[in-house]
Amino acid sequence: MRALGRFLLFVIVLTAAVGGVAYYLAGRQPGPTIEIRAPEKLVGQTASLDVAVETPGGQLSSLTAVVEQKDLRETVFSLDVAGATGEIKQESPDRLLIARPMGKKALPALAAGPARVTVTASRPVLFGLRQVSTVATRDLEVRLTPPRVGIVSLHHFVNHGGAEFVVYRVSPGDSASGVRVGEAAFRGFPGSSVGLSDPELHVGFFALAHDQELNAPVRAFARDAAGNEASTPIDHRVFPRPFAKSRIDIDQSFLERIVPAIASNTQDLAVSTASPDDLLAGFLTINGELRRQNNDAIKALAKKSQTDMLWKDAFSQMGSSAVQSRFADYRTYFFKGKEIDRQVHLGFDLASTAHAPVLAANRGTVVFASFLGIYGNCVVIDHGLGVQSLYAHLSTLAVKEGDSVEKGHELGRTGITGLAGGDHLHFTLLVDGTAVNPVEWWDAHWLEDRVYRKIREAGGTEQ
Ligand SMILES: [Zn+2]
Repeated sequence: MRALGRFLLFVIVLTAAVGGVAYYLAGRQPGPTIEIRAPEKLVGQTASLDVAVETPGGQLSSLTAVVEQKDLRETVFSLDVAGATGEIKQESPDRLLIARPMGKKALPALAAGPARVTVTASRPVLFGLRQVSTVATRDLEVRLTPPRVGIVSLHHFVNHGGAEFVVYRVSPGDSASGVRVGEAAFRGFPGSSVGLSDPELHVGFFALAHDQELNAPVRAFARDAAGNEASTPIDHRVFPRPFAKSRIDIDQSFLERIVPAIASNTQDLAVSTASPDDLLAGFLTINGELRRQNNDAIKALAKKSQTDMLWKDAFSQMGSSAVQSRFADYRTYFFKGKEIDRQVHLGFDLASTAHAPVLAANRGTVVFASFLGIYGNCVVIDHGLGVQSLYAHLSTLAVKEGDSVEKGHELGRTGITGLAGGDHLHFTLLVDGTAVNPVEWWDAHWLEDRVYRKIREAGGTEQ
């Protein structure tokens, strides 16, 4: 009996010991991983608390998110009240995504100033007998007043289809800002890009596009990372500019040269070249749909524009060239005497001798050098501050993407690639992706009056 008693006691002690060790080890397992994806720092009227939680099998026993601020303690999220607002997504078997509104609108008690969000997640271990937890915190700043924006430069004169420059002040200086003309937004740049040392000063080019109303509102805007936005009108005068209308007659031999050449160089372009009717249909697709696609691709290059003003002085026009077509020429296309299409020509056509050298109009970086549909072999140079120049229909390309070029650097030779009737250079000047009249940029007086004077008056020394 005593031996049996001793044995039983041994079994009990052993079980307790094993159980104790298992319980202890279970508690040392890692808790769920928590990643607070948003907000990064600022919270405004609207903000979303985005949290990713990773735990084996997506199993959680509790999950809470709390915002604290002085005496305030608000629960933004708790697993117990799941489904109330916001959403939970299962991104993978082990990963849950939680999004909950946490701006002033969702939590009216929030006040401007520092705040902290704490996310706590627990998962069951040892058959649910224990929980292991993880805590993640992030320090935030609640900012409820929009940034302030004021115009610094004087005398803003905008030609229809042309560009203008503005110096403005944004406070706090780290807000995103720019100019809106009607629906079009133009990126602003820190004043340091043109030698202005005050961190609140900003500069930007904007344009009144050829197809916009003359009375389109022009406003400088600023938006902070908390989503608060303010804007103020830019006092300006608009000058109407009549745009030319022209007639383009195309014939069968033009279609035979142009359509197969563009089709064979353009992926995913559904045009047939089998019959004369196909060629005409192909031309209309190229002149319409492909033109729009190409212009979208050019517009997207604006994102690659550098913060620094890379150029000085006026842009150069192709030497000893004859102007064949001006900016914003409203063209009507005829085939066998019948109207077939209408498009607007967004550049200057400059003709010299065949295969004439094409030179960089100013200093910059090549952001595109390849075949581009209607533009044929095409080079785009970024000059910084959203300003870019485009050279089209080249027979040869002498530069590649990423090259730095000085004013006058040879980019290639003129040609007839793309939608070109004869050997010429098609030149376009772009402001944040919007084609503008290049005549202004070829004019040293315009640059002095519209741009450099404003930089000097604001205290800049660079120009
Ligand atoms: Zn052209």
